[in-house]
Amino acid sequence: MATATLTIDLDAITQNWRALDAKSAQSVETAAVIKADAYGLGAAVVAKSLYHAGVRSFFVAVAEEGIVIRKAVGNNAKIYVFSGMMLTDAQPIREYNLIPMLNAPNQVARFRNETSDLTYGLQLDTGMNRLGLEPDEFNGVKDAANDADLIISHLACADDPAHPQNAQQLAAFHAMTNGLSVRRSLAATGGTLLGADYHFDLCRPGVGLYGGFPFNDATPTAHLAIPVIQTRRVTKGETVGYSAAWVAKRDSIVATLAAGYADGLIRAMGHDSVSLYAGNTPCPLIGRVSMDLLTVDVTDLDAVPNELHLLNSQQTVDDLADAAGTIGYEILTSLGGRYERRYVGEARG
Ligand SMILES: *Cc1c(COP(=O)(O)O)cnc(C)c1O
Repeated sequence: MATATLTIDLDAITQNWRALDAKSAQSVETAAVIKADAYGLGAAVVAKSLYHAGVRSFFVAVAEEGIVIRKAVGNNAKIYVFSGMMLTDAQPIREYNLIPMLNAPNQVARFRNETSDLTYGLQLDTGMNRLGLEPDEFNGVKDAANDADLIISHLACADDPAHPQNAQQLAAFHAMTNGLSVRRSLAATGGTLLGADYHFDLCRPGVGLYGGFPFNDATPTAHLAIPVIQTRRVTKGETVGYSAAWVAKRDSIVATLAAGYADGLIRAMGHDSVSLYAGNTPCPLIGRVSMDLLTVDVTDLDAVPNELHLLNSQQTVDDLADAAGTIGYEILTSLGGRYERRYVGEARG
């Protein structure tokens, strides 16, 4: 079959969670952000593994994602929803015991009207200007603060430890929340790595669990093997692929592989620096990335294997992201629905 295989290492994910958990004090809870189908790797399976590893708090972007997590992990975990409480969310929030992170005065009002008997969290804006109550809005609902399950804010620049906005947002978060007797959380992956000042009561890493920057010590979690459909000889001066963008500088052997930008291997990565691996041997990706196909210069291989590897321990999602001018998050969440997905590891739930 000509379907590429995406292997997801659940032990690597739980190992990354333990490593991030070890960055903060014992008293600090380490949650898991598992939005967008666990950054593309499969929310239900990943949630079960993390639950078995000890995670008891999960964060998702929208209520619908929370339903998937609840069904996967059962009732003994908290599931927080970053988008808070949207118009049609009252029923799933109640039925699946989700905790909306209310982020605007109208959401607080909606919650009080429709679900005031349930648990909620609050989300504050400390400078990112994306989601969250501004200081004056927070003052307007201050009576809701001490009964919240959790108060969070989000750092805009935590992947750059030298960025002055980190300290500014930290100070703003202190100014808004000091004196409250509520659990607090400011740190995602980047904030977890910034140190204890940023940890408060709960850290909520996402991308680091899945092996991405800024958690540079992460273990890679996704491996991608792509079948070779055919190989051909290309004479010096001939071209390969759309727009004739690659010209053979020597007589070459070119392999055509069964995955492309429809599988999340975005076209922008097809400029020079990406390789496909035969074991430890890199073979350059050449020509334009097509919808369903990649072309690879395998001239220097003694024998062409049945498949070549695009993601392995030598080439990570961040390497692909660098080549494509994007971030590892986008590579992960773009990995398409056409792969045969294989989960490995003891941590399978
Ligand atoms: C996505 C997200 C996180 C996790 O961020 P990472 O950088 O992936 O660790 C944490 N908090 C909020 C509010 C988010 O939107």
